[in-house]
Amino acid sequence: METSWYSIDKNPLETIFRRIRELGYRVIAPIRLNEDHVVLDFANKFDEVSLDFIRPRNNPKSFLFPNEDTLLYFDYRSQNIKSPLNHSEKLALFCIHPCDANAIYVLDKMLLDPPEDPYYMLRRRNLMIVVLDCEKADDYCFCESVESRVPRVYDLWIVPSSSKYFISIGSRLGSLIIDHLPIKKDRSPEIRELNVKKYSFDWSHLRDLYDNEVWRELSEQCVLCGSCLSSCPTCVCFDVVDRVSHDLNACRRVRVWDSCIFRTFTMLAGGRIVRKSPEERFKFRFYHKFVFIKERYGVFGCTGCGRCISRCSSHIHPLEVVSEVLRNA
Ligand code: SF4
Ligand code: SF4
Repeated sequence: METSWYSIDKNPLETIFRRIRELGYRVIAPIRLNEDHVVLDFANKFDEVSLDFIRPRNNPKSFLFPNEDTLLYFDYRSQNIKSPLNHSEKLALFCIHPCDANAIYVLDKMLLDPPEDPYYMLRRRNLMIVVLDCEKADDYCFCESVESRVPRVYDLWIVPSSSKYFISIGSRLGSLIIDHLPIKKDRSPEIRELNVKKYSFDWSHLRDLYDNEVWRELSEQCVLCGSCLSSCPTCVCFDVVDRVSHDLNACRRVRVWDSCIFRTFTMLAGGRIVRKSPEERFKFRFYHKFVFIKERYGVFGCTGCGRCISRCSSHIHPLEVVSEVLRNA
């Protein structure tokens, strides 16, 4: 579907921020923690928001699919089980970048594909997404190489240019947010190239290289720490554990983030380990993101946000790995 564009001369962000709060949403926005770090966190006032950032340290998944998410409460004395599922706070992600909106699109595909994840669905149903286009990138960004430069899901997408602000409305909620703004119909803005290193592959060859010996050599750089996957906005591996109270009378069943790179994650009942070698676990990550998710949902499971590279002590870049494997085709 063709995207319709509007524009406004004056910076609309503060008005949009106030309007979102008037509509009863709690706002989650980029907030500067210190010189080096911006995080997504709750903001009550517009002047808490920092728009000078490339990628926040955390990502939208922390709010939609949080670590330590309570699945149920159990009281041993009354034998009562309570579900937290009636909880439905309205949350607005304000000024996230296109790659993080696309991470939500990937999460939607994986977690709303029947049978839906009810915990994710409840939060997602009450989520507003306002995307602010990127003005700069760094050496870790590679959205343009994984078809993720343009957001696939949003209520509003705002693209600043030198003379005005372009706005695309993605939903009825988006129209409601800006119903008081003096916007006018306009042409499409130029979506600026971010000047990051471009990778161009024939991805279809990757599937056939699963058993290529180059994977062993590449996996030797990886210490299997899991930092890459715990920082990734599209990873959804989890474990379920019970947190029992000290007096043993109550229990909270929680979902905790896990990682397919860990040996224990691939252990089945009875103790069988599915992916025993570090090499198998290392390469599974790449096949899941670049082959299996793409085949099933038509998009890559990686948005090119660069968080994994920024956290990796071995500086492992997903597309450098793919590139090396394809060179051996
Ligand atoms: S694999 Fe890395 S670059 Fe891709 S979405 Fe995950 S953290 Fe971002
Ligand atoms: S952060 Fe780097 S070293 Fe750690 S598991 Fe990921 S790729 Fe391996």
